[in-house]
Amino acid sequence: MKIKRLEILGFKSFQDKVSLEFNQAITSIVGPNGCGKSNVVDAIRWVMGEQSAKNLRGKAMEDIIFNGTEYRKPLGMAEVSLVFSTEDGRVPAKYLNFTEIQVTRRLYRDGESDYLINKIPCRLLDVAELFMDTGIGARAYSIIEQGKIGMILHAKPEERRFLIEEAAGVTKFKARKVVALKKIESTRQNLLRIGDIVTEIK
Ligand code: ATP
Repeated sequence: MKIKRLEILGFKSFQDKVSLEFNQAITSIVGPNGCGKSNVVDAIRWVMGEQSAKNLRGKAMEDIIFNGTEYRKPLGMAEVSLVFSTEDGRVPAKYLNFTEIQVTRRLYRDGESDYLINKIPCRLLDVAELFMDTGIGARAYSIIEQGKIGMILHAKPEERRFLIEEAAGVTKFKARKVVALKKIESTRQNLLRIGDIVTEIK
């Protein structure tokens, strides 16, 4: 999956809708200090499901909504869409028939939030699954910000293993294993309850 386009509206310093095209092999974003370069990276991280306001350089998640300037009123909602091309075929089977995949996240000031894939409402889990093992996701190795290399070098072996597993493509299977183990446990509990009821009836 390759990033094609990023659409930002009401996210941090982007009060009006901005669309950034990523057509070339390398896209550079340049500008004076404080113009919003890092906010672009924050927008990418956020739409891919980042849950920590701190990782987006804020105190609360609401801080990502445009909070106004001397001349503009604060906005009530932030929306970011990230569009991927599926040309390389490295997408989950259910998206193979699409030429692009659009992931959208919205947040309203009252805390309500939405995730959408190709404009259809979905769960955060669906967004996470879409990115699993692609190396893209909110915490994956595709975003190397200032200090990240040092952090990886100094990380504990278990923390570093997460990146290696993502690159090796086993993250998805580990996540599925957790879900399967939970189902097994809940089935075991149900069987115990049924056993109790059978004993009572006897
Ligand atoms: P530098 O080159 O210094 O790292 P930068 O270009 O990466 O700067 P950013 O950190 O992306 O700049 O943007 C900082 C700007 O974003 C500040 O002017 C800040 O006021 C603005 N900003 C952050 N959050 C909001 C918000 N919720 N509403 C409006 N503006 C915001």
